Amino acid sequence: MFSRTTTIFALPFLSAMVSASQVNLNALFKPHLSSGARIILPSSQNYTTQAIQRWTVWEEPTYIGAIQPATEEDVEQIVKIAAKPPFLATGAGHGFGLGFGQVQNAIDIDLSQFKSVAIDAENNILTVGGSVTFSDIFQPLYDVGKEVPTGNIPCIGIMVGATLGAGVGPLQGLHGFIIDSLHSVRLTTASGDTVTVSKTENPDLFWAIRGAGANFGIITWANYTTYDSTNGGQVINADFLYAASANTSVFEALASFDEYIPSELGLSVEMSFNQTSKEAILVVNFIFFGNQTEAQPYLDRFNSIDYLFTDLQYVSWPELDGFSDFGPMALPALK
Ligand SMILES: Cc1cc2nc3c(=O)[nH]c(=O)nc-3n(C[C@H](O)[C@H](O)[C@H](O)COP(=O)(O)OP(=O)(O)OC[C@H]3O[C@@H](n4cnc5c(N)ncnc54)[C@H](O)[C@@H]3O)c2cc1C
Repeated sequence: MFSRTTTIFALPFLSAMVSASQVNLNALFKPHLSSGARIILPSSQNYTTQAIQRWTVWEEPTYIGAIQPATEEDVEQIVKIAAKPPFLATGAGHGFGLGFGQVQNAIDIDLSQFKSVAIDAENNILTVGGSVTFSDIFQPLYDVGKEVPTGNIPCIGIMVGATLGAGVGPLQGLHGFIIDSLHSVRLTTASGDTVTVSKTENPDLFWAIRGAGANFGIITWANYTTYDSTNGGQVINADFLYAASANTSVFEALASFDEYIPSELGLSVEMSFNQTSKEAILVVNFIFFGNQTEAQPYLDRFNSIDYLFTDLQYVSWPELDGFSDFGPMALPALK
């Protein structure tokens, strides 16, 4: 077992390194980690398939290697040993803040082994590992008649990563931001100690992580309050693709919800560039946790604008993953 004495020796040892590239991650970390922990070097053939890759290469951090802890104790040891070079936790790699580019030659604490999902339906608690994605939780929750707020559906985004920045998504009108459902977390601090953080335990830290969480520690597990499925978990999804010339009408339709938007409705709009037509386009995604009759008056505001394509489905909450934002399940219908 790795003792505190060993840790104290390890810190000055690593700090004295002249160059991050000379750090031998296997020699330095492996003896102190559980047998399930993995170290993957960029020189490895499997680096891009086994270590979580970033969603964008813009302002990306660079790493001397990824360490995938298997236990909470592994996370503690990595943090204690890694005084220098810097380290960064990776959940699903969907972060795109400007600061990431300043993290160079770092150790990637890749949380991909923290992937379990557990539901206590009786007590309305969902427990997820630090790298669980939205897609991992839809079906298990739906199967027991529950839901929690998540991000927008097609994003393969991560539950904890999104939570740390508040977390916006289609169930926001009914249940608030994702942080509003956060019940408690297990968090490894910069000193390498793991604490429970909730309204009653370390409440100041609980306040801090709900919005600026990525700065305060590494979350290995998070517990969320769950809710009974709205409309039995059946959802209206509609997508509208508009030419840029329709933008005034589209934004007027969106603005018509300024005074009142039903709690069951989530709207998002994307602006992008169509490489084929070489024109800007707008996509409106409409998600309504109710039936079509209830949704129709709100759908009509977008149907009445001259669209290029549209699609409409009444699907289960987990199926949104494939349909919304003209997802892969919706595309055949467009052909
Ligand atoms: C295509 C796309 C769609 C998105 N859609 C939505 C959406 O619908 N709703 C929404 O709210 N947000 C959305 N986001 C924003 C996204 O939630 C944030 O960028 C979030 O930070 C991504 O977390 P990640 O773990 O995937 O990213 P990472 O790059 O892995 O991490 C981002 C930051 O969070 C830290 N972090 C990640 N996991 C942990 C952890 N377990 N413990 C401690 N720190 C951690 C990392 O260290 C890093 O600082 C979207 C982003 C993209 C790129």
